[in-house]
Amino acid sequence: MKINGDRLWASLMELAKIGATEKGGVKRLALTDLDKQGRDLVVGWGKEAGMSITIDQIGNVFMRRDGTNNALPPVMTGSHIDTQPTGGKFDGNYGVLAGLEVVRTLNDLKIKTEAPIEVAFWTNEEGSRFVPVMMGSGVFCGAFSLETAYAAKDVDGKTVGDELERIGYKGPQVPGDHPIGAYFETHIEQGPVLEDADKVIGVVPAVMGLSWYDCVVTGMEAHAGPTPMGLRKDALQVSTRIMQEVVAIANRYPPYGRGTVGMVQVFPNSRNVIPGEVKFSIDLRNVNDELLNTMHEEMLAFIDKTRSESGLKISIERVSYYPPCPFHPECVDAVRSATAKLGYSTMDVVSGAGHDAIYAARLAPAGMIFVPCKDGISHNEIEDAKAEHLEAGCNVLLHAMLERARVV
Ligand SMILES: [Zn+2]
Repeated sequence: MKINGDRLWASLMELAKIGATEKGGVKRLALTDLDKQGRDLVVGWGKEAGMSITIDQIGNVFMRRDGTNNALPPVMTGSHIDTQPTGGKFDGNYGVLAGLEVVRTLNDLKIKTEAPIEVAFWTNEEGSRFVPVMMGSGVFCGAFSLETAYAAKDVDGKTVGDELERIGYKGPQVPGDHPIGAYFETHIEQGPVLEDADKVIGVVPAVMGLSWYDCVVTGMEAHAGPTPMGLRKDALQVSTRIMQEVVAIANRYPPYGRGTVGMVQVFPNSRNVIPGEVKFSIDLRNVNDELLNTMHEEMLAFIDKTRSESGLKISIERVSYYPPCPFHPECVDAVRSATAKLGYSTMDVVSGAGHDAIYAARLAPAGMIFVPCKDGISHNEIEDAKAEHLEAGCNVLLHAMLERARVV
């Protein structure tokens, strides 16, 4: 049993016309007129495929194909159709249209499932017009309130609440008042791992957690010539010790330890002045919360040691923390066995990016399917993916969903 790859591709290209950019990408920001057009197109396709439509108060849309036992919670798939300002055709859109293609295929083959099947698209996943990101799925799972989301403003001062109303997608259903039996999301990888290993399907066991910090090292500015080496309080020299340790910590916890210093400011930033103050960011990641916490502790201990050895003032503040999100073993296994059954080459790929599936996973067993994208590039108009890979990912989705929804 296979989906129709040509039809999937044609729908992706059709949706990509709405907000198409000159460089071949898509700009369809959340809750704009273009988003409304995209939503209307997808909802129209859902209705043509015989699905009923439910919209909740944050504008999440659920398209439903009934099962033979509608008392069962639906097996759901979905993603988002909003894009970045310089977005591509596939990020999010693929996950939604793959779901639609699954339903079209079931219709063609006259297959009935015991549990209903639903295809969702979540409001404002990208977070580029309104923050927070993953807004629709976040409100749905109770990570933050509807009021917080409604009050979010874009640069022109327009609010989510008003814009939802204006485009006609402020629905009646209370967010979260909607059972989910299991949730699957197909997505382009947005990284280079699958392409590099020449594999077609990424089984996603988890999404990495992250811990962000701001670090400030304060020394003393002085002339670079007259001040002997032993009598300096060089904030940059001390900072580089910490920066090296950030990488060393990540390397101590392979394969998923990540340590990055991506932002550095040196004061006064002058050739012949010993730096008096350095501010820098630290980004630690791991897929395992215990390991991420160990990395956090080791970094704090190193900073304590460096502070007492150097005599300089060092402050460190954690500014963000998202725990790792392991996906449900049953859903991960459903993806794995569907991939094996279909004979695609495969490997496990931990997601380094956020997805709506993270929030869905708080409410129901969830899993993800990755397919390669060209050079691992996304959030870019040149984002590209091969039709055969998109087709393969959709076939895996079909079989994984059927395993959960059960063919009758
Ligand atoms: Zn996405």
